[in-house]
Amino acid sequence: MTSPVRERTRRELAQEAKRRALAQATRSSYLRRLGQWDRLRREGRLQPLRDWARDAKDRVLSDHRRHLEQFVRAVRERGGFVHVAATPEEAVARVVAIARRHGARLAVKSKSMATEEIHLNAGLEAAGVEVVETDLGEYIIQLAGERPVHIVGPSIHYDREAVARLFSRHLGEPMPPDPEALTQVARRVLREKFLAAEIGITGANFGVAETGTVVLVTNEGNGRMVTTLPRVLITIMGLEKLVGTWADLEPLLTLLPRSATGQTLTSYVTAITGPRRPGEADGPEEFHVVILDAGRSRLLGTPFQPALRCLRCGACLDACPVFRQVGGHAYLPPYSGPIGVVITPLLKGMEAAGEVLDLCSLCGACTEACPVQIPLHRFILDLRHQRMASPRASRWERLLFRFWAWAWRTPGRYRWTVRLLRALARPFVRDGRLRWLPGPLAAWGEGRDFPAPAARPFHERWADLAREAEPERNTGEVADGGRR
Ligand code: SF4
Repeated sequence: MTSPVRERTRRELAQEAKRRALAQATRSSYLRRLGQWDRLRREGRLQPLRDWARDAKDRVLSDHRRHLEQFVRAVRERGGFVHVAATPEEAVARVVAIARRHGARLAVKSKSMATEEIHLNAGLEAAGVEVVETDLGEYIIQLAGERPVHIVGPSIHYDREAVARLFSRHLGEPMPPDPEALTQVARRVLREKFLAAEIGITGANFGVAETGTVVLVTNEGNGRMVTTLPRVLITIMGLEKLVGTWADLEPLLTLLPRSATGQTLTSYVTAITGPRRPGEADGPEEFHVVILDAGRSRLLGTPFQPALRCLRCGACLDACPVFRQVGGHAYLPPYSGPIGVVITPLLKGMEAAGEVLDLCSLCGACTEACPVQIPLHRFILDLRHQRMASPRASRWERLLFRFWAWAWRTPGRYRWTVRLLRALARPFVRDGRLRWLPGPLAAWGEGRDFPAPAARPFHERWADLAREAEPERNTGEVADGGRR
């Protein structure tokens, strides 16, 4: 049976225009990040900042209970409400209950991966609450009925023509493919929603334990509107988003925009500490934080704990050669790219999500790109080991890997298998290329030609090369000796 991940990958690879747009967007964002990192490197600040950021996250993760209690206490002391949800269903139920208590019919949302994870929109809509995404990229994919293709740029696969067609269809009038005009239209529609909504919903980039503050890092004004106009504000925050102090935010706020969009700073950094206080001009009358566990606490204290450092900056996605080809829709929702490959099986279990582990070439580019130094490709390798060890793993795959490990454990067996493979490949060689691969290997040969195995592999030629180089080396030694 073809796996869902394989089906999705095939479908995504067949969409040429989408692939082109995705490759272009991820490449330019990758280059912008490199530029920012180079600048920090030249100033001698890059590695110290990465270490500082990693340590700030690790301090909280290794003493999580205390920090969580501190955060909860601080939010409550400032008049807010905190709900800890063990599962996605519980988190949705909490939000629906708050919406019902306020008789809400309309909620406006700023961009949040945690709400994607719990399928909040579907839950609220089933309860009769209309949900409107107000981040422009999210608004586009909400109209299109899609899910985000990238953690940071949910609709980067849409060019201006596609957005114009989408807006024209939904708004009932023809729209020109002009970014300025399209943005104006979205602004007009969304402003009416901001003014009418009873509930505002956000995610959180950070939760500062010492003051109970939720910090949002955004580029569009929608985050400010969502957090100030509706009477009730609900923040959904993964429990890993805590930081201990405001000082800990410094390296994180320095690295996040540089790694996410290649900016030195985003347009807005919004800090929400409790509901509106007497005398304040704006802000919600009621403020709720729903802290989402959904499998995260199981990782605390395990070797995979560092995966919880993730800032959702998307740098590993842009660096990943697999993601750049297949895009976020090939992965299991909502997290894509290398962090999705790591976190999805950890949160959902190997049986439900182990197949995403195939979407990795183990090149290690993600680990290099990660600002908080999560050893992503190491974790992927460890998870692949776990998957192979599970009794549900394919018997054939297990046998193949066992044979491979046995065959390449000694130089003699390695040479013997290489000779055997060369003999087996000979019938498929045309003009020095392997034109076709048999059976389960066929997919490796699709769309590309493999060079045929060398007539004499390198290790066989090495002895000759060493012999040929010997007289030259001796001559060099004599010459050097003469100079001395
Ligand atoms: S794993 Fe690292 S690079 Fe990837 S999104 Fe998270 S913080 Fe960014």
